[in-house]
Amino acid sequence: RHYLDRIARLDPRLNSFITVDAEAALAAAARADEALARDEGRPLTGIPIAHKDIFCTKGVRTSCASRMLDDFVAPYDATVVERLAAAGAVMLGKTNMDEFAMGSSNETSYYGPVANPWDTSRVPGGSSGGSAAAVAARLCAAATGTDTGGSIRQPAALCGITGIKPTYGRCSRWGMIAFASSLDQAGVMARSAADAAFLLDEMAGFDERDSTSAEVPVPDYVDALDNDISGLRIGLPKEFFGEGLDPRVGAAIEAAIREYEKLGAEIREISLPNSPLSVPVYYVVAPAECSSNLARFDGVRYGHRCADPADLEDLYTRSRAEGFGAEVQRRVMIGTYVLSAGYYDAYYLKAQKIRQLIADDFKRAFEEVDVIMGPTTPSTAFALGDKMDDPVAMYLNDIYTIATNLAGLPGMSIPVEPVEGMPVGLQLIGNYFDEARLLNIAHRYQ
Ligand code: GLN
Repeated sequence: RHYLDRIARLDPRLNSFITVDAEAALAAAARADEALARDEGRPLTGIPIAHKDIFCTKGVRTSCASRMLDDFVAPYDATVVERLAAAGAVMLGKTNMDEFAMGSSNETSYYGPVANPWDTSRVPGGSSGGSAAAVAARLCAAATGTDTGGSIRQPAALCGITGIKPTYGRCSRWGMIAFASSLDQAGVMARSAADAAFLLDEMAGFDERDSTSAEVPVPDYVDALDNDISGLRIGLPKEFFGEGLDPRVGAAIEAAIREYEKLGAEIREISLPNSPLSVPVYYVVAPAECSSNLARFDGVRYGHRCADPADLEDLYTRSRAEGFGAEVQRRVMIGTYVLSAGYYDAYYLKAQKIRQLIADDFKRAFEEVDVIMGPTTPSTAFALGDKMDDPVAMYLNDIYTIATNLAGLPGMSIPVEPVEGMPVGLQLIGNYFDEARLLNIAHRYQ
C-alpha cells in the first residue's frame, strides 16, 4: 500500500509506469502475509517490485512501450518474472521504457517520456528509464531491466541507483521481447548492490527454454557481498577518460577510485584499443538483429493491425508504419540495409570481425586486472528533448557501456558523488560470470 500510494501521488509527474495492477499487487501482498504467518516465507516474500514492460507477464499487458503491442497480453510469464514470483516478490506493475528498448533517454516510448526524479526537466536515461526512475523515487523496492548496449547501467547512473547487467546468458531471455538477441541480457535495478544480489540470486541460472542460456553454476551472490577486496587489481582503460568525458564526472569517478585505493585495491592503467569502435559496430550489429527480430510484427499474428487493408502488402506496410515509432523504423531500415546482399560483407561481416577484436581487448585486460572501472556515461542527465533531433549524439551516450555487451561481459553502475545535484555512475566491468565479485566490490564502496 505504501508503494501504491507513492505511485498514485508521484507517478503522474514521472510517468515511470505504463501499467499498475493495484488489485493483483494487493492480492499477492495478502498471500505473502499469509505465507509469512505460516512461516513459509521465501527469500523475497512480500518485496514489491516492478518489471520493465519488455518482460511478458501472464494476464497483464506487455507493450514494450510500442503502439504495436498496445493491447498485447501474453499468455505466459517470462522466466525472470516466473522466478521472482516464485521467490515471493510482489509485482506492482510494468515500467516505461524506450520503444522496443531502442533509445538512451526513454523519449521513444509510445506512452511518453519519463522524467528524472532528481530534476524532472531531465531524462532518466534509457531504455530502462521507467525502472530507474521508479526505484530512485522509491515507487518500488527494486525493478528488472534489460541491457543491450547500456540500458540498465546508463539509466541507473543518471538516476543515482545501482544496476547490474550480468554476463550474456546468465539470466534467461525466455519471454523477454527480443531486440538484438546476441546482446540482450536481463538484470536488476535496485537501491544497492546488496538489494541487487538478493534479486539476482533468484533470477540467474540455466533455463532450457532459452538456447543461449548458460549452464554455469550460480554462486550465492548475497554470501559474497562482504568479501575482503584488499589486493584487488583495478584497471582503468585510458580510452574511457579522454575527450568527450565531462571533467566534473571524471573528477567524481577519480574520487571514487581513490576510495578503492583506501580499501586496499591496486590501480593500473590499461588499454582497450578497439573500444572506440564499439558504437559504430553496435549500430550495425544491433539494427541487423532488430530488423530480423521485429519481422514477426506483421499485423497478422499479433500486435497492431491497420484498418481495412487492401491486400497483404498493404496490411504489412501500414500495420508496421502505424505500429512502430520513428526510432524503431530507423533501426529496421539500417538493419535490412547492412544485411542486404550487396552490403553484407562491407558492414555486417566487418562489424562482426571488429566485435571479436573488442572482446579480445577485454581478454587481454583480464589477464592483468580483476575488474575494470570507469565512468558509466560521459555526462550527467541531459535535458528532455535535447538530443531527440540528433540520433548520433544520442547514440554516443552509450560510448562506455556498449563494448561490454559486444563482448558479453557483466557490467554494473553504482552511484558516486553527484555533480551539481545530479547523480554520477561508476561503471564496473568484470570477467565472464564474475557477478559475485562485482556485487562484492560495489557493496564494499556502499
Ligand atoms: N541506447 C542503446 C540503443 O539505443 C542501448 C539500448 C539497450 O541497451 N537496450 O540501442
